[in-house]
Amino acid sequence: MSTNIKVQRICQFCGKEFTARTTVTQYCGDNCSKRAYKARQRATKVETSNKETLQIKTKPIEELKVQEFLSVRHVAKLIGSSRQTVYNLINTGKLQAVNILKKKTIVRRCDLDKLFEQPTPIIQQADNNPEPLHYEIDDCYTLKEVQDKYGVSETTLQNLIKRNNIPKIKKGWFAYVPKKMIDNILT
Ligand SMILES: [Zn+2]
Repeated sequence: MSTNIKVQRICQFCGKEFTARTTVTQYCGDNCSKRAYKARQRATKVETSNKETLQIKTKPIEELKVQEFLSVRHVAKLIGSSRQTVYNLINTGKLQAVNILKKKTIVRRCDLDKLFEQPTPIIQQADNNPEPLHYEIDDCYTLKEVQDKYGVSETTLQNLIKRNNIPKIKKGWFAYVPKKMIDNILT
């Protein structure tokens, strides 16, 4: 590079035009050169920090995959859904969960896996029936669903179940009753 040449260049830090002695000079002076260096350092730090954040954000997915107990938030993350969806799955009995504390719901990994397997039939030996009853969960209401659908109180429903010898099937948090029998009586 010749020292005799004079070229007009734009400082890459301050944007001002300046006369440079080489065609590759990037900055108008030491000041801009130093400031540009500092800015680069800062940018590197920000980038590193962003990378760390991303690692923290994505790391749990790998960890969650091998975790035996999951929070609702974790389940949502694993199956790529909202927490509300997970609560819906739990509330409709499709996903088994345990409330270990008032606001702490835990799902076992194996129960989460079950969600993606064939639905397990419910088999229940009713007191009044020597034959084991066999119901698919899809063919049943939860008690809450019956109450909501037919606008009956819990007491009314319990009495109705008793009076009509409707099999009440317990599974997880919920008791289920066969849709057909309920519909026959309440419709
Ligand atoms: Zn400059």
